Amino acid sequence: MRWERGRRSRNLEDRRAQGAGRRTGRLRLPLPAGRGGKLSLTSLLIMVGLYFLIGPEALQGLGGLGGGGLPGGAQVGLPGGGSGDVASGPLRTTPAEDELVEFVSFVLDDAQQTWARLLPGYREAKLVLYRDTTRSACGVGQAQMGPFYCPGDEKVYVDLSFYGELRSRFGAPGDFAQAYVLAHELGHHVQHLTGTEARVRRAQRSSPGDANELSVAMELQADCLAGVWGHAAAQRGILERGDVEEGLRAAGAIGDDRIQGMAGRAVQPESFTHGSSAQRQQWLGRGLDSGDPAACDSL
Ligand SMILES: [Zn+2]
Repeated sequence: MRWERGRRSRNLEDRRAQGAGRRTGRLRLPLPAGRGGKLSLTSLLIMVGLYFLIGPEALQGLGGLGGGGLPGGAQVGLPGGGSGDVASGPLRTTPAEDELVEFVSFVLDDAQQTWARLLPGYREAKLVLYRDTTRSACGVGQAQMGPFYCPGDEKVYVDLSFYGELRSRFGAPGDFAQAYVLAHELGHHVQHLTGTEARVRRAQRSSPGDANELSVAMELQADCLAGVWGHAAAQRGILERGDVEEGLRAAGAIGDDRIQGMAGRAVQPESFTHGSSAQRQQWLGRGLDSGDPAACDSL
């Protein structure tokens, strides 16, 4: 991609200094204190509280990027990322990470300018950059969930270490692959603004048997909407040779069948929540080819 360096979006909310240096990707539960195997009341309360904060239901149904979280958690390092175990402190970063922040800033602004033209009354979303864990109106976000969008606060949450995962573990390198990830999450924001997201959630509640199928349709639409932005970017001449292929490779890399296979699980189409690799590529391609949100009629 041909992108403009040195800018920082006003819609960026940088929380990386909170929890800086902790790269384990897991919350530390307090050890049961007290003697003779008894939990102290305080640790019990903390553990119960944590269960409800990070419990299995807390973050279900969010507009994440891939199904069921990433296999094996987020045992990843940023390029030259911190190695200490500091709960908070001054932000330690690297030139590579600084450049990534400028890049996501550029994509965020470019995509939102595109949507402001395409969608009357478009309201800008914020992008929260965090490390390991952070609070959202939808519950606690964790790095191993991958990037996600929370309609409750209209923010996209990204732990930048995901981009290392995308490149090395998912085999999808390239700046347009990274841009697609963010554009997909902004697609969920568009679905929220148009009322599509609320309509799908209602349908899922009234017909739980169709919940996964509806989720797949909504995710494929977000892929297509990401492509709509890609089409606009191509028209303005900021895509380079190979960019579209990078995006399609990334969409294929995070298909439910691929992720289930990577996690060593049997591939079960009925449990898909985001769509197969082939479907994700097909819908991203549909947006890229047409540039028309109306073509994203997976729902
Ligand atoms: Zn999604």
